[in-house]
Amino acid sequence: MADFKDLRIVVIGAGMGGLGAALAFAKKGFKHIDVYETASNLGFVGAGIQMPPNVLRVLDRLDCWKEIEAEATDVKGSSIRQGSTNVELASVSMPDVREKYGFPHLTGHRASLAGGLYNGCKKESAITFHFSTSVVRVESYSPKPVLTFQPRDGEPFQVEADIVLASDGIKSVTRTQMLADLGTVSSEEDTGQAAYRIMLKRSEMEHDPEMLALLDSDTVVRWIGPQRHIIAYPISNKQIFNISTTQPDTNFAATTNATYTTRASKKAMLNVFADFCPLVQRILDLVPEGEVCEWKLRIHKPLPTWVHGSVALLGDACHPTLPHLSQGAAMAIEDGAVLAECVSRVPTDRLNDPEWIAKALKVYELLRKPYTSRLVDMASESGRGLHLGEGKAKEERDRQFRESGKTGSVPDRWASPDVQKMIYSFDTVQNARDKFDEVFASLGAEKA
Ligand SMILES: Cc1cc2nc3c(=O)[nH]c(=O)nc-3n(C[C@H](O)[C@H](O)[C@H](O)COP(=O)(O)OP(=O)(O)OC[C@H]3O[C@@H](n4cnc5c(N)ncnc54)[C@H](O)[C@@H]3O)c2cc1C
Repeated sequence: MADFKDLRIVVIGAGMGGLGAALAFAKKGFKHIDVYETASNLGFVGAGIQMPPNVLRVLDRLDCWKEIEAEATDVKGSSIRQGSTNVELASVSMPDVREKYGFPHLTGHRASLAGGLYNGCKKESAITFHFSTSVVRVESYSPKPVLTFQPRDGEPFQVEADIVLASDGIKSVTRTQMLADLGTVSSEEDTGQAAYRIMLKRSEMEHDPEMLALLDSDTVVRWIGPQRHIIAYPISNKQIFNISTTQPDTNFAATTNATYTTRASKKAMLNVFADFCPLVQRILDLVPEGEVCEWKLRIHKPLPTWVHGSVALLGDACHPTLPHLSQGAAMAIEDGAVLAECVSRVPTDRLNDPEWIAKALKVYELLRKPYTSRLVDMASESGRGLHLGEGKAKEERDRQFRESGKTGSVPDRWASPDVQKMIYSFDTVQNARDKFDEVFASLGAEKA
């Protein structure tokens, strides 16, 4: 093979991780990138998403964040409030995120983030999308991975690649099969949590001055209570107020199959937050009957490996997380950028050697797994702190909220300046550039 750019890259799934990976490989100069997606188009959940500086740094290198920024909200602070009273437990001002970390913290519409990535991909002639086409089986992992696909209308077919990037999300069939083929399993960890995702239009809220103030603020608000919380922020040029809840999972707990979403009743939703303050009640009451959707929040125990031969998992396929740190999509997009960095470091005369490809993928895993595991754990831990019921632990947490202005540490880890510094200042691509040779050598190969 003349050049790493001639490698045939197959991406499974056109979610945030898959789109980001395809674009990252194209920007590195790879010429043959095929993305296979089950859905017939980018049918993204109608919901908002937080885009922290660490992911904007990656999107900037992929040259696609300016259009995303145009309709996003530049977050200037967060307000953590007691759900029952609306009394503020802590307020964290974030006026200088852009100055500190080079990029702002944005909130936006998922369709805007996905659309920005997709538009970036469409400008790259190297990327071909195959919608309505699912991977159903991995036939081999090396020396060349072979996959069987099932198009929605048509006969199954096989594709041989040089590298497969499996970004097929939390229900990843690639993960399940890869681990089974390695003689292990991927066990789910029961979070006991579910979420309602809601979007309200400005026209529905503007009659209420308190609601309008929330919509016009540049603030992320979190109302917390025992076992539950609500996070809310403006998106889409403040034309939409995005609300995401977390509550005990009662609907999905009994199901044995991996159900992820279900239509829910408005009455049940109002009941869950019945003891929250009148402002929250008025907001939730605006949700149209029949438009309440509930999601099971699922995570997995850390996987024994993310890589088998020339097949690598990324995003929710290998490190699904609770949303309490707002880093799931960010981590998925970062993964793709690190993968592109690692694979492009394989020397030209080694490109036909699957062992070198596998080792480059392994470097990605070694660089990303400890870091993403830490963030996944932190998101779970933060949720436990937010959801404390009455008692000594809650009293201590509330004291820490009160003292947070002095200590720089907030029990809501998302809003905590020390955690933000750790996550927002970490340039994962630069880290891969700096560490690749050392980690590659540690795998028992010559220096790449
Ligand atoms: C309530 C909630 C709030 C969140 N808030 C945030 C936030 O503010 N910030 C943030 O960064 N993250 C957030 N996240 C997390 C984030 O949404 C996910 O981590 C992220 O979308 C994962 O991206 P992914 O590409 O790995 O997977 P997905 O987005 O799930 O994409 C997987 C894709 O693969 C396709 N696919 C699946 N199987 C196959 C197959 N066999 N063949 C072909 N295609 C297949 C699917 O159709 C899908 O398009 C939140 C999550 C939740 C639940």
